[in-house]
Amino acid sequence: TDVRENLTYEDFGHAVRELAQTIADDGYQPDIVLSIARGGVFVAGGLAYALDCKNIHLVNVEFYTGVGTTLEMPVMLAPVPNAIDFTDKKVLIADDVADTGKTLKLVHDFCLETVAEVRSAVIYEKSHSLVKCEYVWKRTDDWINFPWSVLPPVRKSGESITPSKEAL
Ligand code: 5GP
Repeated sequence: TDVRENLTYEDFGHAVRELAQTIADDGYQPDIVLSIARGGVFVAGGLAYALDCKNIHLVNVEFYTGVGTTLEMPVMLAPVPNAIDFTDKKVLIADDVADTGKTLKLVHDFCLETVAEVRSAVIYEKSHSLVKCEYVWKRTDDWINFPWSVLPPVRKSGESITPSKEAL
C-alpha cells in the first residue's frame, strides 16, 4: 500500500508534548529516558525536557533496511549500555514507532533484568505490534514518513551524483 502517514516537524512538536502530558497525568516519573537510535532520539529528547528528566541513555538497534524491508531480527549494536546504570531505576523507553514491536521487545527485555520499572512511549503504534506500549500518541497501520528520515542524506553543495557508466 502507498498510503502514508506524514508527520512534519511541527506535528512532532505537538505530539511529543501531548505524549509527555499523558505520561505526567499517569503519574510516571522516569529516572532515565532510554532512546532507541536513531528515530527514538528525537522522541527521547522531547520527552526528557517535557518531563524534566535530565538523564538520557541511548541504545543502537538495527532492523529496517528500507521501506517495509527488514533484517530477520533486530540487533543491538555496540556499545550496549551498561546494565548497572539501570539498576533499580524507573526507565522510560522512547521510540518513534512500534511496528512489529520486535525492536521495543528487545530493549524492554534487556531492561527487565535490572530495572525497578520499565514503560514504553512511542509516537505511533501499529495494530500488529507484539508489544503494547503504555504510552502511544497515535495508532496507524500505514507506513509513516518521519521528518528526520523522509529526505536523503545531504551532500556537499554543488557536488553531483557520480554518473553511471551508461551516462558517460
Ligand atoms: P519494529 O521493530 O517495531 O518493527 O520497528 C522499529 C523501528 O523500525 C522503528 O523505530 C523505525 O525506525 C522503523 N520503522 C518501523 N515502521 C516504520 C514506518 O512506518 N516508518 C518509518 N519511517 N520507520 C519505521
